[in-house]
Amino acid sequence: MTDVCIYQNYINGEFSGLPKNTIDVHNPATGALLSRVPESETGEVERAIAAARSAQRAWAAKPAVERGAHLRKIASKIRENADSLARVITLEQGKVLSLARVEVDFTADYLDYMAEWARRIEGEIITSDRPGENIFLFRKPIGVVAGILPWNFPFFLIARKMAPALITGNTIVIKPSEETPNNCFEFTKLVAETDLPAGVFNVVCGSGFNVGQTLTSNAGVDLISFTGSVETGSRIMAAAATNITKLNLELGGKAPAIVLADADLDLAVNAIKNSRVINSGQVCNCAERVYVQAAVADEFIDKITRAMSMTTYGDPIARPDVDMGPLVNRVGLDKVAAMVDTAIAQGGSVTTGGKIADLGQGFHYQPTVIAGCRSDMEIMRKEVFGAVLPIQVVSDLDEAIACANASDYGLTSSVYTKDLSQAMKAVAQLDFGETYVNRENFEAMQGFHAGVRKSGIGGADGKHGLYEYTHTHVAYIQT
Ligand code: NAP
Repeated sequence: MTDVCIYQNYINGEFSGLPKNTIDVHNPATGALLSRVPESETGEVERAIAAARSAQRAWAAKPAVERGAHLRKIASKIRENADSLARVITLEQGKVLSLARVEVDFTADYLDYMAEWARRIEGEIITSDRPGENIFLFRKPIGVVAGILPWNFPFFLIARKMAPALITGNTIVIKPSEETPNNCFEFTKLVAETDLPAGVFNVVCGSGFNVGQTLTSNAGVDLISFTGSVETGSRIMAAAATNITKLNLELGGKAPAIVLADADLDLAVNAIKNSRVINSGQVCNCAERVYVQAAVADEFIDKITRAMSMTTYGDPIARPDVDMGPLVNRVGLDKVAAMVDTAIAQGGSVTTGGKIADLGQGFHYQPTVIAGCRSDMEIMRKEVFGAVLPIQVVSDLDEAIACANASDYGLTSSVYTKDLSQAMKAVAQLDFGETYVNRENFEAMQGFHAGVRKSGIGGADGKHGLYEYTHTHVAYIQT
């Protein structure tokens, strides 16, 4: 029997004892067993929802500044434990330690940022048609939130759901991904060290099929805040239909990067490469397909090929200096390999990479560039969660925009040009939730991260993200 950590659910302010059924969690770089986590039973999930329900009114009745103070305490705990938390993330998810550390720091900052909203949650007073009447619009908490997390930024996503939920007076039940639950339990241990009232924050672990389904079809949940794939998002919409549960869906992306002839090519190459290799290419918002104007296509392809081929990879714990760790699991690796093979069969030409990397262990795929792509190819249409960059040559901005928009996805997009009028035209005509001009795709916490088409419903961050966790209540007051 190995001496591995067995984590426990956290319900109503207590860890719930050793789980009956467990899921093994492995290190994707080495295959080592890291922990065992609960495969929770339905009753356990229902208990968590009930705990969140019974804590909610008292929590909402507290002044928002008091709720914010709780978020700040958790942020401080995270900062005190930043190095060990980053290591936990890297071990189970595979991202490089420096990025895991950024994720941890950003998470603490995010909790503080959302705490600052305590004095800024505003309603409205609307002019009435009647004499002596005031129309008040209040913003109220929705109730119990189910936060369902993916594995790619698993630690930050806890805060992205928990912080706006709690500051607006909701309570929450979190379900981490079974791929990366350890960091969530380490987060939870820190929460448990604070005086956050019991039932406000709960964690139940288990597979999506089991725990996820229970959460999304339970009438005790008032808002499902989900981040993950389009396929799962679609299943969740179906489950939510039974109780007409409100949804916030942050789904996949296929971000186009448009490189025009007048662009600073070195800047574009650097930004697109960084955007493609971060987190081993497993990011919803990062450059997934390039449309480059014909006049600079050869030079751009040469430069990006060189940059991608110099990207280093390996076990991020044994070799902390590498640019990329492994992909999260075997399924992800096989999917990337199959998509590259299909791209080659459909006429793409690999200028660097194109194969599973043989490091003896771990789910590594070589950083890859595929030139000669066309809009009808799978690699230009489907999300590839790996450091694979397909490139299509276009004649002008109009063609690039038309190709970019002809996609199921509409999360982020980027354009590289020195011409302000071209940049503004792209911003006006790209049908996406976000556009980045002359920079890598990475959102700010005060912005609004949201997609159109199959990339989701609603969004996160900033004022608009905060208000996703409220409902309006209008009172007509005749005096
Ligand atoms: P996923 O497979 O959809 O899983 C996400 C979460 O949903 C996991 O916790 C999963 O549980 C759970 N789940 C699975 N089936 C479920 C069901 N029927 N009902 C309820 N929950 C269910 O996504 P992923 O592979 O973890 O994450 C990668 C995807 O997330 C990519 O498509 C990426 O683009 C997207 N993403 C989007 C954003 C954004 O902001 N738009 C941010 C990050 C990631 P288990 O896995 O534990 O079974």
